Formats: sequence, C-alpha cells, structure tokens
Amino acid sequence: MNNIKEFFLGIWHLMQGMYISLLNFLRKKVTEEYPENRGKVFPYDCMRGCLVMPHNADNQHKCTACGICEMNCPNGTIQIISKKELDEATSKEKRALDRYLYDVGSCTFCSLCTVSCPQNAIEWSNDFEHALYTRSKLVQQLNKEGSSLAKKEKEVARIS
Ligand code: SF4
Ligand code: SF4
Repeated sequence: MNNIKEFFLGIWHLMQGMYISLLNFLRKKVTEEYPENRGKVFPYDCMRGCLVMPHNADNQHKCTACGICEMNCPNGTIQIISKKELDEATSKEKRALDRYLYDVGSCTFCSLCTVSCPQNAIEWSNDFEHALYTRSKLVQQLNKEGSSLAKKEKEVARIS
C-alpha cells in the first residue's frame, strides 16, 4: 500500500515539475540573446573581466617584479618570473620582470592582486570571453614581448 502511495506521489511531483517547465517555455524570453548580439553588449566599466598590464607607447610597464601580487593571490593564479638586469644608473644588478603569467582559469576575480600592487601595474579589462578548448591556453603572459620597466617618473605617469 505504501509503494502505491509513493508511486502516485512521484507522478504528482513529476507533473508539478513539468507544469513549471511548460510555464517557463511559454513565457517571454528575458535573456540578452548572447552571443548573437555580441557587438551590442557593453559590460560595465567596473566589471572584472580579465587581468591586464597596461603598457605605454614605448612598450613600458610599471611592474617591478616585486612579487607582492603573487604572494597575495589566494589561488596561486599569478606567477612572476624575474631576471637580473644591470642598472645603468648604479652599475648594480637589479631584479626585473621577465614573464608575468596569469591563469584566468583559476582566478576568482577577488582583486587582491590589484589592490595590493604598490605600483598600480595591473588592472581589470572588460574582456569576459574566456571560453577555450584547451585549458593551458587560459594561462596568459601579461607583459608584452620586449617590454621593460618605465624608468622615469614622467614615463610612469604616462602609462594609463
Ligand atoms: S583576482 Fe584574486 S584570484 Fe585572481 S589573480 Fe588576483 S588575487 Fe589571484
Ligand atoms: S604587478 Fe605590482 S605587485 Fe605584482 S609584481 Fe608587479 S609591481 Fe609587484
């Protein structure tokens, strides 16, 4: 008797679920029609789409390879690979950025990296389309090939 009761109760719940599905099927669509309207979608400026490192016209950035963002990232999303360079002013070796690696696949967009950077060398772009077939391609190098640290104050100020 109990089994028959559970059987009809199951049928009743199934019909309830199908009724909700039917209602939603007949409702007016409220989605943004993405990706058909890709060219018309403009995310908000404050949106954290992807981490970027701005460079100026002379291919210079503001990153000193200090590693603070890497230390503050809770997910190990950032990897700073540094190199030694000769400082022309002091004739001493100094640390310089070789590769700034960012894995968007493990980023939670918490922004601890950007707020902790003492140089304001990294920021957010609106780019939100990260879908790829290969996970390894989600790892991006943020510093451009051949780029270097902006040396003078006025050069640093010019980077935006
Ligand atoms: S936003 Fe958060 S998780 Fe992503 S790289 Fe920065 S600190 Fe790491
Ligand atoms: S992005 Fe900022 S915090 Fe990170 S290594 Fe460069 S200067 Fe340091």
